[in-house]
Amino acid sequence: MTNAALDTDLRDLYQDLILDHGKHPRNFRIAKNANHEALGHNPLCGDRLMLYVTVDDDNVVQDVAFQGSGCAISMASASMMTDMLKGKTLAEVGALFDYMHGACTGETVTPAGLAEDDVDRIKALAGVRHYPMRVKCATLAWHTLQAALKNEKKVSTE
Ligand code: ZN
Repeated sequence: MTNAALDTDLRDLYQDLILDHGKHPRNFRIAKNANHEALGHNPLCGDRLMLYVTVDDDNVVQDVAFQGSGCAISMASASMMTDMLKGKTLAEVGALFDYMHGACTGETVTPAGLAEDDVDRIKALAGVRHYPMRVKCATLAWHTLQAALKNEKKVSTE
């Protein structure tokens, strides 16, 4: 199978996953005991989400949750991100963010050391780079995550 064919299969497969996460977001709740939180806003599309992150003393993410409203891509991306981050160290979270950001802007190099499953899911989300208007929808949760971890309370994609 060629790489292109494999990519298409992967895209079809993850299309379903993205639609499912968009319709039934995981970790969609308020986390009262979170020690990091931020509000993310994408004025271009109207996506808005509140992200709650709980990091323990060993810099491991114990819990991630979000609430908000927006288009299916923004909700699916947030849902998939929260699924990915639990149990990760902050260093691993940083590597995933860098990869997501790069993948959405056309970077094709996959960094070493990431879990294969996470790489596949990020590749699927990064399919939005073919639709420039949607990139900010897909990256909103990730920018909100960065803001929360830096203890910035608010972030806008503009
Ligand atoms: Zn959107």
